[in-house]
Amino acid sequence: MTTATESTNCDKQRTKVQKIFHKLECIRKDYIKKIVSSLVKTKPASITIEDLNIQGMMKNRHLSKAIAQQNFYYFRSKLTEKCLQFGIELRIANRVYPSSKICSECGAKKKDLNLSDRVYICPACGLKIDRDLNAAINLKHCAHYKVA
Ligand SMILES: [Zn+2]
Repeated sequence: MTTATESTNCDKQRTKVQKIFHKLECIRKDYIKKIVSSLVKTKPASITIEDLNIQGMMKNRHLSKAIAQQNFYYFRSKLTEKCLQFGIELRIANRVYPSSKICSECGAKKKDLNLSDRVYICPACGLKIDRDLNAAINLKHCAHYKVA
């Protein structure tokens, strides 16, 4: 049986934890705002983003928590808002566009690329590049998109 004091302590701990979670959420959102701000300040003519299947990714129990914490929806809505404000064309790449699998140097397509492969090594031209940088360069040149 719990005493009144134990129950009050429990409530206090719960409130404390909730406050910490709230603080973390604020830090994450603030970080996103800063990133978006720094992106639009470079005044690009356009920004291309991937149309991630977030709902599908959320079904993967290994990824769901990390994805929820990344605030992808929040990032996209903030970016959309700022692009509109600054007259930057926001391009949404076609969902089937294989930005990670294409070599940004020679255009060859890699078939066996795992999520754990952080470095892209091209089988055709030998290019060795950070996976995300390679995808970003491809997205920059992607012609299959819709405007947000
Ligand atoms: Zn290549």
